[in-house]
Amino acid sequence: MRLCDPATVWLGLLVLSSGASGEPLVWERFENSALGIVRGGVSFSNDVVGYGGVITPNQYAVVFDGKPGTSVDYGTAKKVTSTDFTVEAFVKPARRPSYDAIAADWNEDGNQRSWALVLLSNGGLRFDVSPDGDFYVENKLQTPPRLIQPGTWYHVAAVSEGQVSRIYVNGREVAATTRARPGIFSGDEANLKIGAADRYATDGPRPFHGSLDEVRITEQALRPADFVKTKEDMPEVVGPVPGTYEMPFAATGKEDAVAWQERARKRLFELVGEQQPRFSTEEVAVDFQFGEPEDRGAYTLYKASFQGNNKEGTRYPCLFAIPQGEGPFPAMLCIHGHGGSAEAAFDPKSIYHGFADRFARGGYVVLAPSFPHREYCAMMLWDLFRCADILRSRPEVDPERMGVGGLSMGGEWTMWIAACDPRLKVAVVSGWMCTTDGVFSVPNCVCWELPGFVDLMDVCEVHLLIAPRRVLFESAEYDTCFPIRHTKEGYARIRAGYKVFGAEDAASQDVWPAGHEWHGVVAYPLVDEVLGGRAAEVE
Ligand SMILES: [Zn+2]
Repeated sequence: MRLCDPATVWLGLLVLSSGASGEPLVWERFENSALGIVRGGVSFSNDVVGYGGVITPNQYAVVFDGKPGTSVDYGTAKKVTSTDFTVEAFVKPARRPSYDAIAADWNEDGNQRSWALVLLSNGGLRFDVSPDGDFYVENKLQTPPRLIQPGTWYHVAAVSEGQVSRIYVNGREVAATTRARPGIFSGDEANLKIGAADRYATDGPRPFHGSLDEVRITEQALRPADFVKTKEDMPEVVGPVPGTYEMPFAATGKEDAVAWQERARKRLFELVGEQQPRFSTEEVAVDFQFGEPEDRGAYTLYKASFQGNNKEGTRYPCLFAIPQGEGPFPAMLCIHGHGGSAEAAFDPKSIYHGFADRFARGGYVVLAPSFPHREYCAMMLWDLFRCADILRSRPEVDPERMGVGGLSMGGEWTMWIAACDPRLKVAVVSGWMCTTDGVFSVPNCVCWELPGFVDLMDVCEVHLLIAPRRVLFESAEYDTCFPIRHTKEGYARIRAGYKVFGAEDAASQDVWPAGHEWHGVVAYPLVDEVLGGRAAEVE
């Protein structure tokens, strides 16, 4: 608990320096009570904002339990009527949010939307303003991700000035836009609420989980100098790229580099293990079952399935190709991306250009799993190990000649398993490798943000766990998911890292003028060279 020194309290008396005559529309200080009607699980806490506390005495903050009925409710009479207004609050989320409403006058039912300030699951903020009660996507303002972390106090402010929306965190502007539709809807029947909305983004009240303090709504477009202040400046907010990494690649010699790989791999296993327990093959046996075969000429394709690394009995469907002729054969694990499947990886008309079929026709045993979308992509890591276990256990497969390739999220899965399983001798990471800065520069799916992972190292450096094994990055010039400038920068960093392992030329990049898709032109001969197949000869 932090108490204000009474001697300093009134030196910084909160005056609206922009010359406002009026009182704030709402100013909830939560000093052991609330001005609005407290509904549901609202409690008062001495855990108030740090940085010396706010300038006026501040002993209590409010804690919302995050249940749907919980809010501080001002009813329908309190309204923002000016397009110049500011909503500000100190926020300390208790957990990863999911559209948690900080404050809102917003009800989807009957098109009673006015404005809403919401915390997103990616750690970003969103500020919506409606001119007429309807929803307009071009009126919303969204910040980059990862500005707000659970368990830390921040000052956030949403400012509307005429038609311009701005969002500030700790006094720094983090997003701004000019709204396409002017005006603000004021004649509505929605309740103005703190810690919830009436109904937001279709799913309900979107209650806030965690602490709020000093929530103030002012019918003026305030500047940072006018925001509610703490005695000491709040730290400049960093993000979305972490300011420092826990385990960056900084080795200058091979021995250090190998030691870093061991440490990093151990840490990655811990992070994945926190989300998804791993079971040994003694605990959950490798169970691979063949279904019906299909004659594909150069190979036989089996519908198959295998027991995942779980105790719930969840099995994954897959396709398994065995070439004609005498084995043992080299083998490729071929992985689809978002919305894909094993079938898509075999389909020449898909964005995968049938790369799994191409390897199978080129004399490779191919295992192509169909994986579900998980909250975090990395939660499939233990199942990917099972895929390598299956290949290794098959009499058709030469266990010394196994590799992996995948596109998009399949590229990410390729990174994960190649980084963690040295049994795979070559990896083709297509449409994924990028710097952290680059991945955040476009609105990618947040499933790559395994908790703790983004803070560990730049995401491109994970590929250094593959060194000195061969790796190829397919980086299409017009891939809108991973901008080419950032994939080239990532590749330069990986080359430099591979050089430390004495294996600079083992990393290569294929850049060609296309979008988010598989290429193969460099990949097939490269994989053939390492594993001894002949996919490059097939057309
Ligand atoms: Zn995803």
